[in-house]
Amino acid sequence: MKYRTSRENMIKYQLLARGITDENVLKAFFTVPRHRFVPTELEHLSYNDSPLSIGESQTISQPYIVALMMQTLELKKSDKVLEIGTGSGYQTALLAEIVEKVYTVERIKSLITGAENLLNDLGYKNIYYKFGDGTLGWADGYPKQEEFDKIIVAAAAPDIPESLTKQLAMNGKLIIPTGNRTLQQLVVITKTEDGYVHTNEGGCTFVPLIGDEGWQE
Ligand code: SAH
Repeated sequence: MKYRTSRENMIKYQLLARGITDENVLKAFFTVPRHRFVPTELEHLSYNDSPLSIGESQTISQPYIVALMMQTLELKKSDKVLEIGTGSGYQTALLAEIVEKVYTVERIKSLITGAENLLNDLGYKNIYYKFGDGTLGWADGYPKQEEFDKIIVAAAAPDIPESLTKQLAMNGKLIIPTGNRTLQQLVVITKTEDGYVHTNEGGCTFVPLIGDEGWQE
């Protein structure tokens, strides 16, 4: 298995050392070949403790922040998960290792096409893809799906898109970086019988979420 030691070190020093304990998340990070999701010239850096450029001014997120978001969502096998910001498809693969179905949306055509080809190549059969504005959720997506158990947004929004909270199932959770263009807070919204409950998981920096209910370019 190529880069096996790099992957083990990533898990030990970047994830376990910082409090990632969810067994499913750790196992997914061991299984998914991160080096396949970065441009060839950056392959040797693919297990580093940092985000990396994937072209089109976008980045594959730092492993730890992806793990933290996934652990916070308390993913279950039976979950249907909506992911906004497919990018390289790395996080999509991690999610697909754990849950039943992943619905992923990306606004840059070359990125979603590249991710879909790679994820097909790696054998994932439980992922649905949509090219378009993810601030509107899975609207018009195929197959039809109106509610999600978990929603994960991999780009930073000025406010929480209402279209996304509306697509949460009862007891579902949405995680989204919210703030200005340089610094955000990771906000978690849980839909309960008594309404939406907000919690804050700390500071982070993501590329902007651009769309109808995000930044306007
Ligand atoms: N999860 C990705 C990280 C991608 S970076 C990975 O593991 O590689 C965030 C991505 O969100 C970028 O690809 C960007 O194009 C995308 N994005 C930004 N605004 C979006 C929107 N409104 N809808 C869908 N994708 C969006």
